[in-house]
Amino acid sequence: MHCSFCGRSRDEVKILIAGQEGHICENCVEHAREIIDQELMVRDEKTPNTSFKLTIKKPIEIKKFLDEYVIGQDEAKKVLAVAVYNHYKRLQQRPADAGNNNSEVEIEKSNIIMVGETGTGKTLLAKSIARMLNVPFAIVDATVFTEAGYVGEDVESILTRLLQVCNYDVNAAERGIVYIDEIDKIARKGDNPSITRDVSGEGVQQGMLKLLEGTDVLVPPQGGRKHPEQKLIKINTQNILFICGGAFDGIDKIIARRVQTNTIGFNVDKDQQDNMKKNLLRYVNAQDLKSFGLIPELLGRLPVVTHLDPLDATTLRAILTQPKNALTKQYKKLFELEGIELTIEDDVLDFMVERAVEYKLGARGLRSICEGILTDAMFELPSSKDTQFTLDLDYAKRKFDKSKLSLLKVA
Ligand code: ADP
Repeated sequence: MHCSFCGRSRDEVKILIAGQEGHICENCVEHAREIIDQELMVRDEKTPNTSFKLTIKKPIEIKKFLDEYVIGQDEAKKVLAVAVYNHYKRLQQRPADAGNNNSEVEIEKSNIIMVGETGTGKTLLAKSIARMLNVPFAIVDATVFTEAGYVGEDVESILTRLLQVCNYDVNAAERGIVYIDEIDKIARKGDNPSITRDVSGEGVQQGMLKLLEGTDVLVPPQGGRKHPEQKLIKINTQNILFICGGAFDGIDKIIARRVQTNTIGFNVDKDQQDNMKKNLLRYVNAQDLKSFGLIPELLGRLPVVTHLDPLDATTLRAILTQPKNALTKQYKKLFELEGIELTIEDDVLDFMVERAVEYKLGARGLRSICEGILTDAMFELPSSKDTQFTLDLDYAKRKFDKSKLSLLKVA
């Protein structure tokens, strides 16, 4: 007995499936499956997926929508709203317009770069925008990429993610939004050319140039380099909006240096200077990003630079209660599903915020703190007959002190 497709004998394979006139082995089944997937993908390209219909709102409406999910960060919201609005207006320009004289003015797309500490809402902003516009949206992490030919992923696989999100509908993917996180991690490593090549820094930045500017890119539909036989799919990136985000640790020093040298000789009083120092990120510009290690060519393709403010206690408190899916609302819902009404006293909210600030946990920490405090209640209450649960300060403190989180305290 042997496989009728590859000819391997019974001993050389694990499974041999019998058909009417022959056999097939597991290797050939696997291979056939890949061929089918690829064929179907190509066919899907020709029948566009209509579930991604563009809904366009005016910038003010976009910002209002973002306000429902993201607290504060007004500048970033405004900048994003305008950029996204213009981007989609551009998409709507009919191809016919291209022929008449008026259209000598070509609106170029404005990819965006957001600078802000981790956990201040960069990803949340990008996600919320995509949710509103109903376009394919993918999040990728810049740290996984390396220059072509090295261990890691090729930059083209950024687009693989986008294709997968919209089920390989190339038309939809070509107007999608990609959020590239941790863009600061591919900064050039120092100015002096070293002996080893900078394959995960400058090399990746170089690789990204062609994606950002808008050309045809050949994308491996399954990503990675594991499937050398896969058929590449051609995607034009001209209408894909790229939003990059990063924490850029230490950029405040670069900004401080620039701002200071600029203000020497001008009449800036002490108060004003102190004020500027408090939130230097507000003054970030492309020049600072270049000093940080992004290459000028890349910055040229990311013309909009904006910042996110660090979260203070008031903002953290608002994050707990105000957004549409705020944490407290989520827990209330969870308890409600058990038939229990959860009341959280105000001083408990203050306590959570104080701990998050004290332990430098930021907005992400709020969730762990809530979990730490409420786990016992969520464990016991479903089996009890209670219909009410009031979370007061005393209870919260006791549970928090017992939880692992209290060990995190920075000395
Ligand atoms: P990053 O800036 O590191 O991308 P994220 O956007 O992932 O941060 O934020 C992490 C989490 O913190 C979010 O899922 C959200 O719950 C919360 N969060 C952070 N900033 C805000 C904000 N400004 N408004 C509301 N929630 C926020």
